[in-house]
Amino acid sequence: MSEYLTDGSKTYGRRRRLSGPRLALAVLAGVTLVALGLLAAVGLPATLDGSTLMVRLGTTSSDVLMLTSVAERSGDLLAAKDRRVLRTAGGMPPSLTYRGARVPTNAPLLPFRAYGISPGDDVVEPTKSVTKTVDPPVDYRGSGPLERVVRYGRKGVSVTVYGAVSGDVLSSEWVVPVRGELVMRSSGAYASSSGGKVRGTKKLVALTFDDGPDPRFTPAILKILKDNGVKATFFVLSSHAKQRPDLTRRIVADGHLIANHSRTHRDMTKLNAAELEGEFRRSQEAIASVTGAAPRFFRVPYGITDAKVTAEARRKKLQLVGWEVDSTDWSKPGTATIVKRATPQRNGGMIVLLHDSGGDRRQTIAALPAIIRTYRERGYEFVTVERFYK
Ligand code: ZN
Repeated sequence: MSEYLTDGSKTYGRRRRLSGPRLALAVLAGVTLVALGLLAAVGLPATLDGSTLMVRLGTTSSDVLMLTSVAERSGDLLAAKDRRVLRTAGGMPPSLTYRGARVPTNAPLLPFRAYGISPGDDVVEPTKSVTKTVDPPVDYRGSGPLERVVRYGRKGVSVTVYGAVSGDVLSSEWVVPVRGELVMRSSGAYASSSGGKVRGTKKLVALTFDDGPDPRFTPAILKILKDNGVKATFFVLSSHAKQRPDLTRRIVADGHLIANHSRTHRDMTKLNAAELEGEFRRSQEAIASVTGAAPRFFRVPYGITDAKVTAEARRKKLQLVGWEVDSTDWSKPGTATIVKRATPQRNGGMIVLLHDSGGDRRQTIAALPAIIRTYRERGYEFVTVERFYK
């Protein structure tokens, strides 16, 4: 405490003896104070673009910009696609410059300086990318109420890049390309016109399995049929029968009926005369080479037929067989739906369309025991299609 007092009295002592240079310093300090006072009160001049600008203490770049017509000098908002103006003055605001350099927005301005003004930059809109799942387009061929998927579609995934403000599409590409679905339509009258109409009112049901044999699914179906003492009809593709002769012969050995479902599974109405004849002949020969007997029954692929096809079938002494009940198992609608559709409440005999190949047939396998049980409970007898054409 005493030391502080001593220092204080020394300082006081010095200031009492003001000499020349110290007086000048004091005057300068006084002038500075006045200048600062002026600066704080009315400001001191600087220039902006050649015009005088009064700069007060604490005036910043943005204060000045607020007083000028900023909008006129702001940049524009441009489209990402073609750089067209989306919004005038929608870009960056202008800024002050000093000796060519931008003055930061909150920097205080100093008097006696020549400031310039630089227009704001244009701004390009931001972009956004949108990922979309696209359902496959469906291509229908033929006409009629019966539909069958010939080729399954696949959903596609596309990524589209848009201008966030303009909505312009900048790019669009498939991550997973979409694949269209092909559906064959056929007339419900087909079953009767091709001889598949079941005669009589007796409770007979023929379960028919198309497109096999298939080592993944046919054995499980054969086991269920055997366990339940049911005989069925297998409309095989001759190409499959040739590839799997043992499985084909096992179907015969189990007491089922082998029938022909063509060699290539093409729409037979699209074949020329020679191809049509060859399709019947070669498929019959191939199946006979495996089982030892040429089939008597033929089911056209997709149920699509016409006068030329039926005439050629007659020449080959083949009975065309359609169906009366489509389980729609080919569309994999779920086990419960397959059971329901395969067992409608009708009187008289029925031919039921099912599949043991041509796709994943696990739902068909799961549905089969309930289908058999339902027909049994209604008093039906299981037969092969032969019984309907005697
Ligand atoms: Zn088929």
